[in-house]
Amino acid sequence: MQQLQNYINGQLIAPAAGQYIDNYNPATGQVYALIPDSDAQDVELAVQAALAAFPAWSSTPAETRGRLLMRIADLIDQNLDRLAKAESVDNGKPLKLAKAVDIPRASSNMRFYGTAIQHFASEAHYMEGTEAINYTVRHPHGVAGCISPWNLPLYLFTWKIAPALAAGNCVVAKPSEVTPMTAYLLSELCMEAGLPAGVLNIVHGYGHKVGAAITAHPRVPVISFTGGTATGRSIAATAAPMFKKLSLELGGKNPNIIFADCDFTNALHTSIQSSFANQGQICLCGSRIFIERPLYEQFRDAFVEKAKALTVGDPLEDGTKQGALVSEQHLQKVLSYIDLAKQEGGSILCGGQQVQVAGRCEHGWFLAPTVIEGLPYNCRTNTEEIFGPVVTLTPFDTEEEVLRYANCTDYGLSSTIWTQNLPRAHRVAHQLHAGIIWINTWLLRDLRTPFGGMKNSGVGREGGFEALNFFTEPQNVCVKL
Ligand code: NAD
Repeated sequence: MQQLQNYINGQLIAPAAGQYIDNYNPATGQVYALIPDSDAQDVELAVQAALAAFPAWSSTPAETRGRLLMRIADLIDQNLDRLAKAESVDNGKPLKLAKAVDIPRASSNMRFYGTAIQHFASEAHYMEGTEAINYTVRHPHGVAGCISPWNLPLYLFTWKIAPALAAGNCVVAKPSEVTPMTAYLLSELCMEAGLPAGVLNIVHGYGHKVGAAITAHPRVPVISFTGGTATGRSIAATAAPMFKKLSLELGGKNPNIIFADCDFTNALHTSIQSSFANQGQICLCGSRIFIERPLYEQFRDAFVEKAKALTVGDPLEDGTKQGALVSEQHLQKVLSYIDLAKQEGGSILCGGQQVQVAGRCEHGWFLAPTVIEGLPYNCRTNTEEIFGPVVTLTPFDTEEEVLRYANCTDYGLSSTIWTQNLPRAHRVAHQLHAGIIWINTWLLRDLRTPFGGMKNSGVGREGGFEALNFFTEPQNVCVKL
């Protein structure tokens, strides 16, 4: 059985305590690899390696750093098939999705920040009358801690480490222990690309051991985290009294608002994607669908028909639209929310139960796409993050009403609006409590834009120069002329 290793100081090494964690294939329910069960000793080694590499890396010209990131991007592209298969096996997502979205986006992240750093400028302020000039220097922080989740493993891992490295930091990163494989393969590609030792260190293991040790380490002044809101809260509780700089990308409970004047075919087709892509395990999925009453029944019936037609099956097969949920524990959590929805008075229009896939996947963790109606807008099913292939349908009559429904949760990550009335689209967009709004589309991403959530969905923004600002410390120099 394959045994993964940590990537520390340019080398693949075993965890100090010699312990390993089982790594499951969600489609078969079988253990297929072992992950280092690292602890604070391994984090210490990684931080020391990063500190040692920092003086040379931070003084390497931005163009050279960028070129190295682009070399890694090229290697990701060259290994597309291998990485996509590894992601699919590790996470349960359809191979087709990993090949079309996850892995290409990982190389885009590296390429985007490899070039962005060459266009990153700081400001100068001339003071009229006083004859003085201020200029701002943006210094890398030193060692950045990057902690990522399991739903888009390589995609989100590279989304953090690329800007951190481009800005001249060295990195200690921790991928999710649920989906470590592509981060491990990335460490091999970094070695092949010639990334200097210690610049990027990848420590595998549990959040409460490795993640907590990175968060609490006094020599890691900046933490970029993507994951659940409860974990974000615990990271903030450790990091805030240490005055660390924090970027937190957390959970969501995103509304998908469908007005009766929408382009029906487009709204329907895209809403199936935004509800069930990656088995609904994308923080940006629209899990609460609000439909203007005149369109409600027509949309509901067509939506349920399409949801029923999604093929749930072996993620490696071409025709599969829905793969496995990431873990048995997560499957049980999602099923418990379906039970809660029933208790809260919801009617299950389709799905609601596990799917038995014949053959090699008979012990996998599959769930039928589930559509529920008849729930109050502010019940627990409609306000807590489920993070699975489960959506609710709710009719509305007015803009005011749907804004009240949409904004009633503690989350504020993204929202989608479907209408052909552009003044209304903008009016509603500006009143929604969400960091990311899509109008007549979903998940259309321009990497230059600010990405992140309001309220309990996070603190700070990733994307574009926002991330380069985050990973640098501005210093103002004032010169009297
Ligand atoms: P999680 O919070 O359980 O874990 C995320 C990472 O944090 C993992 O690497 C984990 O090992 C680590 N971790 C756990 N406990 C820790 C601790 N005490 N200290 C430091 N690190 C710790 O989240 P998950 O279940 O992997 O991912 C699903 C969640 O992520 C969902 O809530 C989803 O909405 C959210 N998410 C948000 C975004 C976004 O951009 N806002 C993107 C993807 C996923």
